[in-house]
Amino acid sequence: MEEQLIYLDGDFVKKEDAKVSVYDHGFLYGDGVFEGIRAYNGNVFRLEEHLVRLYESAKSILLEIPYTIEEMTDVVKQTLRVNSLQSAYIRLIVSRGVGNLGIDPRSCKGASVIAIAEPLSLFPAELYETGIEIVSASSRRNRSDVLSPKTKSLNYLNNILVKIEANLAGVPEALMMNADGYVAEGSSDNIFIVKDNKLITPPGYIGALEGITRNAILEVAKERGYEAVEGVFTRHDVYVADEVFLTGTAAEVIGVVKVDGRVIGEGIPGKVTNDILEGFRSIVNNDGVKVYEENTTTA
Ligand code: PMP
Repeated sequence: MEEQLIYLDGDFVKKEDAKVSVYDHGFLYGDGVFEGIRAYNGNVFRLEEHLVRLYESAKSILLEIPYTIEEMTDVVKQTLRVNSLQSAYIRLIVSRGVGNLGIDPRSCKGASVIAIAEPLSLFPAELYETGIEIVSASSRRNRSDVLSPKTKSLNYLNNILVKIEANLAGVPEALMMNADGYVAEGSSDNIFIVKDNKLITPPGYIGALEGITRNAILEVAKERGYEAVEGVFTRHDVYVADEVFLTGTAAEVIGVVKVDGRVIGEGIPGKVTNDILEGFRSIVNNDGVKVYEENTTTA
C-alpha cells in the first residue's frame, strides 16, 4: 500500500494529517457511531446492511448524518479506490463533531465523518489454522435497556474491559456474559457453539450484537444443510460443545479450541467450523458491492 489516505469530512488527507479536535464529542464523550466493514477482491461485503446499521445507530442517538446512504456508499468506495485496495477493513466513524466542553450535543456544529481503509487480520494468521483459546470475562455485557448493543456507538468501554481481561489472561479474546450470566458474545465478535451438527448463537435480546457476519453464517449454515438457530445458553454449554467459533467483520471466522481451560472437541477447529468457513469464503469473494467497475474495452 502506498501512502495511506483517510477520508475526513469531504477531503482525503495523509494519515499523519488525519486529526480531529480535542473538542470533538466523539473524543470527549464517545458521542458518535461507527461501522466496521470489509471488502474482499474489490467487493464490499454486505455494505447495505452495514450502512443501515450505521444510520439506525445514528437515529437511535439523534445524530444526523450529513450524507445520504448513496453518498456514504460512495465514500466507502472512494476510500478503497484512492488507496488502491481490493481487500481491506473499512472503518466508518460519525461523531457528533466539535462542540464545547459540556456534554450537551447542541453545542456541536455538525457531525464529522471519517473513513479509514487498510488491510487487517485481527488475529495472527496462524491462529486461524490452530484456533484460539479464550477465557470468560468477569465484565458483563451492558444491559440492552441501558445502552442497546444494537446502537453501535463509540462507547466501547464495556468491550475494552473484556479485551483487557483477555490480555491479562494471555489469550486473544474473552467471552462476555450478560447480567443474568448467559453467554452474550466476545469483545468484538459473536459466538457460535456446535452440538450434534446444530449451530446455536445467542439472540440479540440476550445482549449480543446481531452481527452481519453472524447473520451471513446462519444463512451459510442453512444452505449447507445444518440446523442453525438463535438460542440462549450458558458457559456449561460452551464447555461441552463439539465445536465453538467466533464471527465478526474484523475477526472473520475463527475456531475456539479451549475455553476457561476446557478443551473443545479435539482441540483443533472442527469439521463444521471448517465447512462453514469454506462457505463464508465463497460468499465474501463473490458477493458484494463492486468498487472497481469492470474494464470496458473499446475496439
Ligand atoms: N459484537 C460486537 C460487540 C462487535 O463490536 C462486533 C463487530 N462489529 C460484532 C459482534 C460482530 O459484528 P459484525 O459481524 O457485524 O462485524
